[in-house]
Amino acid sequence: MSHYTKEELDSYRNARMSVLGRISCSVHLRECASCKKLLEELEDDEKLIKDLRSSVQIYRELSAGPAKSESSHA
Ligand SMILES: [Zn+2]
Repeated sequence: MSHYTKEELDSYRNARMSVLGRISCSVHLRECASCKKLLEELEDDEKLIKDLRSSVQIYRELSAGPAKSESSHA
């Protein structure tokens, strides 16, 4: 039984794999803990990227926001 690479699992996740490939991949994932873990790592990576994006968004909103109303003591 051969294992899946991170790249293959990534195409599985993003539906870039053929239908047959995805079926055998999901069967394999059901029985293989290490490939399942790899897939979970990929999902964690994506979550991290999303978190980073949303913090950038929050930062932008904050810096564009109420800074004007603050009176500077000159
Ligand atoms: Zn495996």
